[in-house]
Amino acid sequence: MQYEVDDEELIRRWHQVRQRTEKADANGILLGGGADLKYLTGYDAMPLERITALVGRFSSGDALPTLIVPELEEARVRRRPSVYSVHTWDDTADSASVIAAALPQRGAVLVSDDLWALHLLGLQRSSPGLELRSLSDSVGGLRLIKSPEERAALAAAGSLADQVASQLQHGQIPLLGRTEAEIAEDIAERLIAVGHETVEFVIIASGPNAASPHHHPGSRTVRTGEIVLCDFGGRLNGYCSDTTRCVHTGPAPADVREAYEVLAAAQEAAVQAAQPGRLLADVDLAARRVISAAGYGDNFIHRTGHGIGAEVHEHPYVTQLNTDPVQVGHAFSVEPGIYIPGRWGMRLEDIVVIENGGARRCNNSARELVEV
Ligand code: ZN
Ligand code: ZN
Ligand code: ZN
Repeated sequence: MQYEVDDEELIRRWHQVRQRTEKADANGILLGGGADLKYLTGYDAMPLERITALVGRFSSGDALPTLIVPELEEARVRRRPSVYSVHTWDDTADSASVIAAALPQRGAVLVSDDLWALHLLGLQRSSPGLELRSLSDSVGGLRLIKSPEERAALAAAGSLADQVASQLQHGQIPLLGRTEAEIAEDIAERLIAVGHETVEFVIIASGPNAASPHHHPGSRTVRTGEIVLCDFGGRLNGYCSDTTRCVHTGPAPADVREAYEVLAAAQEAAVQAAQPGRLLADVDLAARRVISAAGYGDNFIHRTGHGIGAEVHEHPYVTQLNTDPVQVGHAFSVEPGIYIPGRWGMRLEDIVVIENGGARRCNNSARELVEV
């Protein structure tokens, strides 16, 4: 499936951003590169000390945003005159003044999270009269609601990750006697072999290392009789996959099997709670309640999930504190975990997209603790 954003879709997105910005009582918007800029323009800017920015000025009635690019990168920018105008600046210009000139001269300007401090502070110095506010605090994440095409892109990426997960579960990826780092390299190659364009990350955590949720795969060798936690993802057509599966080398002891059943029940409860109109906090609590009831409450040491799309971690975050409603078009991970320091850890992660009827999983490899 090839997913290309056309001008019409970009114009629709810009229109929405403009409405949301005006509703937040701001006259302008400033995006300093990153995934938001790409979402609105299709242009993947290099993150550099020479700023690339997208500027919207609403008070003056400008319909189109201005894409401000360093002159030496102009050749990389596609001309889309119905979506944005292009303004270049060269190395003799002061970029802060160039940006300031394109912004409204008074009122509030919403600034994206990924505008570098270097550029933000430069702008504050050159335009002390501007009221700069956080875009994500004022209107939330721009990429929060995924279109049906974006949801399909996430599902396609997810099914590629599932192919690697099922290779793992079928014992096709050698584990015993290999180091975590070797297994991680093997999985990275497989993520590409099944069709991802890039590998975003691979976490392999074995035995006691699995008790550290973001463990960096290292020199520990996998032995018989332990959990191997594998969390990995790549990118297809600009959209990310992210799934976690645990396997057990040899037969799992009863306490591990029982804990895993709790984990799987918690994950299922959270997926069931992910209904439009309920709260994101309810999704987190649905998982947390099951794990706490089984006595592992203190061992579930992170939020239940994170949004995913053009970035592996983005809005919305599935935490106890997020009282925003679950909405059709949300895409997020559901990934409860149980971690016993010094002994073992386990996590089960699927990406879900929210449709009218509830959550649809983008990951569908086996959810059991498979013994390999
Ligand atoms: Zn993570
Ligand atoms: Zn993950
Ligand atoms: Zn994740």
